[in-house]
Amino acid sequence: MKIGILGGGQLAYMLSMAASPLGLSTLCYEPAVPACAARVTDVITASYTDVEALRAFAQQVDVITFETENITPEIFSILAEEQHKFAPHQNALLVAQDRLLEKNCLNQLGIATAPYEAVDSLASLTEAAHKLGYPCVLKTRRGGYDGKGQSVLRSDEDLSQAFASLGSQPLLLEGFVPFSMEVSMLAVRDQAGTVKTYPLVANTHHQGILRESSAPFEHSALYQQAVHAAQKLLDHLQYVGVMAIEFFVVNDQLVANEIAPRVHNTGHWTIEGAVTSQFENHIRAIAGLPLGDCSARGYSYLLNIIGEEPKLQPLLNIAGLHYHTYGKAPRPQRKLGHVTLCHDDPLQLEKMRKQAQALIGV
Ligand code: AMP
Repeated sequence: MKIGILGGGQLAYMLSMAASPLGLSTLCYEPAVPACAARVTDVITASYTDVEALRAFAQQVDVITFETENITPEIFSILAEEQHKFAPHQNALLVAQDRLLEKNCLNQLGIATAPYEAVDSLASLTEAAHKLGYPCVLKTRRGGYDGKGQSVLRSDEDLSQAFASLGSQPLLLEGFVPFSMEVSMLAVRDQAGTVKTYPLVANTHHQGILRESSAPFEHSALYQQAVHAAQKLLDHLQYVGVMAIEFFVVNDQLVANEIAPRVHNTGHWTIEGAVTSQFENHIRAIAGLPLGDCSARGYSYLLNIIGEEPKLQPLLNIAGLHYHTYGKAPRPQRKLGHVTLCHDDPLQLEKMRKQAQALIGV
């Protein structure tokens, strides 16, 4: 079986490596050169508007998945003409691509989110801000990621400037959530509808970009809430594959922030830190294979490498450290790789964490 992956970045790279031991191959479709996944698999380099190249891609694969959320309905309809299955189904992506549809979907299922209002003019922004109160967060409905396309509003004085910078497209205003921490849950659903969940992960962001994740985050009440939300959401979307749900924690309650219908940065620790990695489980699900165990093996800490690569040698002197470079050119704020530290003893892991942070420059 050959799995087609739309996108050829680091997620496609790690998916491809997970497919190989199962005897499955991958073919990626990526406009950018060089593609990270090209280090380990075949990549068709072509634009997403190249209909012939998209058709040729679809003809060579048995099932199509995606690592990027920038797939338009037009691309799906071109690929669908070749009679191929998508996993997950494109509806999950359409929901995740639009913050309004996403919040509507979560609320319809009884999953708590921040209060929100759709906004399309300065007048509707003003009305929504007065309804939700300050502070509140203005976000573009589509296309925002890693904290881009959003602005925190603190008073009426912020309205016109925020609208001027973001208002050329549909917007969503959210109430500011006074969270104590951010966590995520990765869940996977197979073709028969079985859902398995990874442990909760505690995450910290810097300038809107994920910096570090620690797993498992042990809190049984929050875990039960997250499992309940994941089960409902994945069943509702008839989902196949791995999905990430990001939550705010407010007084022992989870408030869902967003969903990612794909493998996710907060799950990279599962390569070494879980019995079955998120990448392998995504491949298993879309290939119609039984899911693997999602349990954590001990404690794990993931630290992203952002902007510039650290020196390899001293890092590799930390026993239990796993280094992953994505082979990308350094650029400020760009994710270039990650390290995962694993240990059975959380106190030892804490010592290793400090060593790695000092070398990576957190
Ligand atoms: P997002 O692009 O929605 O993932 O937001 C990026 C980051 O901005 C989140 O990880 C939070 O730290 C912060 N943030 C987003 N929305 C809100 C909100 N409604 N209230 C408080 N902080 C938020």
